[in-house]
Formats: sequence, structure tokens, C-alpha cells
Amino acid sequence: MSGKTSRTVIRRSKSVDAGSAVPRVGIGYDVHAFTIGRKLILGGVHIPYRLGLLGHSDADVLLHALCDALLGAAALGDIGKHFPDTSAKYKNVSSLRLLRNVRRLLTKHNFRIVNLDTTIILQQPKVLRYSPQMIYNIATALALKPGQISIKATTNEGIGFIGRGEGCAALAIATILPSKT
Ligand SMILES: [Zn+2]
Repeated sequence: MSGKTSRTVIRRSKSVDAGSAVPRVGIGYDVHAFTIGRKLILGGVHIPYRLGLLGHSDADVLLHALCDALLGAAALGDIGKHFPDTSAKYKNVSSLRLLRNVRRLLTKHNFRIVNLDTTIILQQPKVLRYSPQMIYNIATALALKPGQISIKATTNEGIGFIGRGEGCAALAIATILPSKT
């Protein structure tokens, strides 16, 4: 009888653990304008193009959306809160550094990343062939496997500011789990 009771207790404590490991999801969106005299950096990759994106850091729109998705999933605010564009510290900084800092914040708050899905939205140039290098950069910065990261790209069908080639946007979704402590 007492043995049965202890087994019940063990089962109950296991179900409590499972309940605490509920995945959390965060969304990120970013947009930057194209301009002359800047490099086009997406996912930490320099993509040859006549224009680059305007911004305080390297204006890596994909990594900024990813940072926001990760911070959002952990309810830790957004990229502007942690890396203000008024700070000289982040002027022209590689956004891979920001991504590594976001990983440190998540680790500090006992979260681990499950998977990331992203979409880059731009009319030109074609960027999908650079996605293996982008995935490698993101996987390295976040200590993930390439299979945990998805990068998609689409045009805006010629409509609006993205369709006219005036800017580039990115969407990201991150799934995270509380780490075992
Ligand atoms: Zn940005």
C-alpha cells in the first residue's frame, strides 16, 4: 500500500515537471531602408549589391527580427531596450554580437532555444543562395544545430515600398523552453 502511494507521488512530480516545460513563442519584425554607400549584411553575410541597409548598427534586418523574437519569447523586452541605437557602443556593430548577447540573456534566465523560423522580404537581390552561410552564422552565435534554423525569402510582388526596392523587412518566430535546472 505504501509502495503504491510513493509511485503515485513520483508520477505526479513528473507531470509537474512536464507542465513547467511548456514551450514559449516570440515574434519579431524589423525593416530597414536601402541606401547607397552601405554594405548589405543579412544573417551576418555580406551580400554583393549596389545598395546596403541604413541603420545605426550593421542594419542586419534578419538578425534584428531574430533578436526580437527571442527576447519576446522570454518576455525580456526588445532589441531597442537592450542595445539602444543612441549608444555609441553599438554604432556599426555586427548584429551577430547582439545575437550572442541575446543568447547570454536567455541562458541567464534559464531558457533554451528549440527552433527559429524566419522570412526575409525584399524585391532585390536574390538572397536565398546565401542562406546556408546565414544559418551557419546564426547556429554558431546561438550554439544551435543548422536543423533548428529556417530561413525563407520572398519578394513583395512589386507592391509598396519593399516592392519598389526601397527597403527590406524580416519576420522571425522563436520557440524556447525553460532549461532544466
Ligand atoms: Zn533593425
